[in-house]
Amino acid sequence: MRPLCYCLECLTLLFERVYPTGEKGMNGFWKAERAAVTEYNSDSRNRTCPECGTVNLEGYCWQSRKDTPAERQARAKW
Ligand SMILES: [Zn+2]
Repeated sequence: MRPLCYCLECLTLLFERVYPTGEKGMNGFWKAERAAVTEYNSDSRNRTCPECGTVNLEGYCWQSRKDTPAERQARAKW
């Protein structure tokens, strides 16, 4: 399992964090995903596409109840 984000315009992979669920199981995955999303959102350079230059919206976790307000907004647009 790996939390990752793609450019909305050209689907270039922007950001990726690998989490070894094979070794560690799923228990820590959601925490790792939360950390990856927070890191992704903290710097707009993580969201800027190297191919087309599009600055993508903030990412979010699969679990919507943990959204911050900005993530909730981004989710509504995606
Ligand atoms: Zn792009």
